[in-house]
Amino acid sequence: MNLLQALLSNLGLSSENMGTSSGKSWYPTTGDYLESYSPVDGKLIAKVIQTDWKSYDRLLSDLQMAFTTWRDVPAPRRGEIVRQIGMALREKKEDLGRLVSYEMGKSYQEGLGEVQEMIDICDFAVGLSRQLYGLTMPSERVNHTMMEQWHPLGIVGIISAFNFPVAVWSWNAMISWVCGNVCVWKPSEKTPLTAISCQKIAGEVFAQNGFPEGISGLICGGADVGAWLAEDTRIQLVSATGSTRMGKSVAVAVASRLGKTILELGGNNAIIITPNADLDIATRGAVFGAVGTAGQRCTSTRRLIVHEDVYEAVKKRLVSAYAQLKIGNPLEESNHMGPLIDQEAVGQYLAAVEEVEKEGAQVVVAPGVLDGSGFESGCYVLPCIFEVEPHYRMVKEETFAPILYLMKYRSLEEAIHIHNDVPQGLSSAIMSTDVRESYRFLSAAGSDCGIANVNIGTSGAEIGGAFGGEKETGGGRESGSDAWKAYMRRQTNTINYGNQLPLAQGIRFDT
Ligand code: NAD
Repeated sequence: MNLLQALLSNLGLSSENMGTSSGKSWYPTTGDYLESYSPVDGKLIAKVIQTDWKSYDRLLSDLQMAFTTWRDVPAPRRGEIVRQIGMALREKKEDLGRLVSYEMGKSYQEGLGEVQEMIDICDFAVGLSRQLYGLTMPSERVNHTMMEQWHPLGIVGIISAFNFPVAVWSWNAMISWVCGNVCVWKPSEKTPLTAISCQKIAGEVFAQNGFPEGISGLICGGADVGAWLAEDTRIQLVSATGSTRMGKSVAVAVASRLGKTILELGGNNAIIITPNADLDIATRGAVFGAVGTAGQRCTSTRRLIVHEDVYEAVKKRLVSAYAQLKIGNPLEESNHMGPLIDQEAVGQYLAAVEEVEKEGAQVVVAPGVLDGSGFESGCYVLPCIFEVEPHYRMVKEETFAPILYLMKYRSLEEAIHIHNDVPQGLSSAIMSTDVRESYRFLSAAGSDCGIANVNIGTSGAEIGGAFGGEKETGGGRESGSDAWKAYMRRQTNTINYGNQLPLAQGIRFDT
């Protein structure tokens, strides 16, 4: 049995004929196939039926029905179901992590990390299921009381990107479920098999607990299928993760029907390395941030803004660290970096390199595409570094590849200006042991990003904080803190327990 067959068998899957599900069972539809190729070895690993409009419409009816059941289940009981999903994920962690690595191309360690993130958000959501607190407010009227309650929205549509093929769904679904919503998920067309595996795991837990189909729904397809979610008035909230281009299209469609969105879009993340940095920590944080997941994290480090006094030292350390990187099959744990998702992504990497060189960038660590034994998929590239000027056009764009831009600064104000002078605003970091410059970076006059770190890199967020970014990153927040509020509707209640009807603001209306 080869690796794929073993994984599919352990996860209880076949690699064909699945694509639309309202829970445990799959709609027996026929239609066009979506093919999933592994960037690891270029092999076809699954053929998945693309959801057609008819099955989508049926699924939405199932979801609407299921919502009427699920919203009435007490929130802590909903939390118990999510706890069981977390337990099921623990059982499948190695197999699912390996499948994530094989289908998407990230290292096996990062695949495991992604599944761990799903388990963590389940645990978080279980606790949250007993903490969906509203406030009480003193009323200005005698014998009145005011309070607010949080109610579920209805159907939450989740559109996810290829680079976190399963974790992003879980951030949205687990929180949505404890809040009392039902979910329909449109995963990336590049990673349908891992999505199907997650749907099976969750669907089985709902079925074992006697819940109807339709609390967890899955549809497969490309941008056109995603657009159905954006346009559908039956879907109260669309949580979309992907490129800024996709987010702008979804935002317009959902806003035109006055629906709600959570948008988690592109980043262009930078680290400022000051003269007071611990250069060991700074280098390690920068290298993992730039090279981890082959530069295909929304939080990947793309820009290093380095003080002139430590610039040459940092450059030397980076060159030496890059020389030690091992690139190859991400399932082999000795490799640091696997492939890009597909050959189209390799084309974008090469185009960005060509463009930035035309603008005047100087090579520090050379780019290239690997070929020969082990690299047959054509998706393996060399992580590279360029010295640039901050105003270059390519430096202001997100290229989803391991390209790192190095630039010099003289004063902290200049570094913060360079840092913020890009359209995106997701993650950021400063490397400094100086408390003044660290806090300056975290202040309102500092980083303009949703995430700002000190002495850790830009990637690798924990689930306990609210995750998301500003500007072209879309402004959404997911995961921890009070991000759950975006998945519920707030209802203000005023209760009169007296025998008069006084009006607010003292208005008199005597008859
Ligand atoms: P993508 O925009 O190509 O696709 C993302 C998802 O959106 C896919 O499921 C796709 O089918 C769907 N889609 C595309 N166009 C659509 C449309 N017009 N209407 C509805 N759905 C549509 O992105 P990708 O290449 O899969 O992922 C990489 C991008 O995602 C990067 O820009 C990265 O920064 C971003 N990302 C952001 C976050 C975050 O939290 N901010 C997290 C992960 C990835």
